[in-house]
Amino acid sequence: MIADSGEQDVKMAVEAAERAFVKWSKVTVRERSHYLLKLAEGIEARFDEFANVESLDQGKPVWLTKEMDIPRAVQNFRFFAEFILKEDSESYELEKFRTSVRRRPVGVAGLISPWNLPLYLLTWKIAPALAYGNTVVCKPSELTSLTAGLLADVAAKALLPSGVLNFVFGRGAEAGEALVKHPRVPLISFTGGTATGKRIYRESAEHFKKISLELGGKNPNLIFADSDLKKAVAGTVRSSFLNQGEICLCGSRIYVEEKIYDQFLELFIEEVKKIKVGDPAKPDSFMGALVSREHLEKVESYIQVALKEGGKIVVGGDRPKMSPELAQGYYLNPTVITGLEENSRCIQEEIFGPVVTVSKFKDEKDAIEKANRVNYGLSATIWSEDKARAKNIAEQLNVGTVWINSWLLRDLRVPFGGMKHSGIGREGGYYSREFFTEPTSIIEVKL
Ligand code: NAD
Repeated sequence: MIADSGEQDVKMAVEAAERAFVKWSKVTVRERSHYLLKLAEGIEARFDEFANVESLDQGKPVWLTKEMDIPRAVQNFRFFAEFILKEDSESYELEKFRTSVRRRPVGVAGLISPWNLPLYLLTWKIAPALAYGNTVVCKPSELTSLTAGLLADVAAKALLPSGVLNFVFGRGAEAGEALVKHPRVPLISFTGGTATGKRIYRESAEHFKKISLELGGKNPNLIFADSDLKKAVAGTVRSSFLNQGEICLCGSRIYVEEKIYDQFLELFIEEVKKIKVGDPAKPDSFMGALVSREHLEKVESYIQVALKEGGKIVVGGDRPKMSPELAQGYYLNPTVITGLEENSRCIQEEIFGPVVTVSKFKDEKDAIEKANRVNYGLSATIWSEDKARAKNIAEQLNVGTVWINSWLLRDLRVPFGGMKHSGIGREGGYYSREFFTEPTSIIEVKL
């Protein structure tokens, strides 16, 4: 059972975090690093339990929680545990004076996360917030709170001082909003939908909060005629349908150079048809269930929109036939749509499920124009064997991350975030330090 907390619980959690901040903000870096490692070890010690619970709660396959979600949660803690130890100081000399930059934690950090990568994204916020001396009040998605509950238990067993890491379980409109509006939470890190992000941005302005918004995406996948087609097809199947297409970085708009369009489409369809949608507990299920009935119906409504807009469903579009014990699950076949105009809703709006569109482009210029012609700007993927050209194109795409001949590779030191309606700010490595600390420049006159 999960608590349905509201404003009063948020108030109590913030008070506990404020009390704990007095000591935690002064704890040595080495000690904070030690606690982060303890959290990593605590998750590792219960790895299978975390992996099974995440799958049960979210609908994704267990093999995926074991390969991606839970290892990444562990890595988030380990990464920042080490990263803070390597920090160097910043100072500048001029003829008559010297300036040194001192960083201090911001205070109580309000962290709000979505349902698609529940523990992975929550720990991506908790780890740097604690590493840089803040205390935390976090609110996981009400749809997927179970692994956050397990993490609270791990934190208690790791003897993390009381009040340093607080969990509030509840709905966005109550618990989430109370956290955003709380005057003594000076920082909000939010990952979720663009509409929610816009609201949070507005609410945060009242108190000039530090804010990081990681929002939706509608990522283009550009496939050039000189790509290694076999690799491009395999990579595109993965970037379209991994995690049921419920990753903000999934490539949902596939653009193929017209010379190889028919060839690509034929191979792509062949591979998509092989995808097994099935019991998340079984290792051969590439896709599990979508997160909720409401979300399944939203994704299906886009398939209807595509048909009305003149699109053609070339694969999927329907629910798979499941065995009786899974028949009530929120399963959807991987769906590929062609023939849509660039301004159609299915090409412009985030669907966030196993539905992709495939269209043609003429040349580099056309590919770049189409890739950039949406409100979102999170990521893109380029498939081409001409590395110099691919790099040049990457620099012209208005997105935060571009993969060339790959997808989802991630170095935690580099900036992660989006442009335009995909968000504000970057996190990762020193970018997280920027966000989770307040710098003060101290100027001393030389004698
Ligand atoms: P959502 O915006 O509905 O909810 C996200 C979180 O915000 C939840 O914890 C929710 O309870 C809370 N929330 C909702 N209303 C709130 C309010 N008024 N005030 C404060 N908190 C509130 O998003 P979702 O449906 O959980 O997640 C899917 C979205 O997240 C997609 O758009 C996806 O692209 C995006 N996402 C982005 C990234 C990224 O890194 N850019 C990563 C993962 C997911």
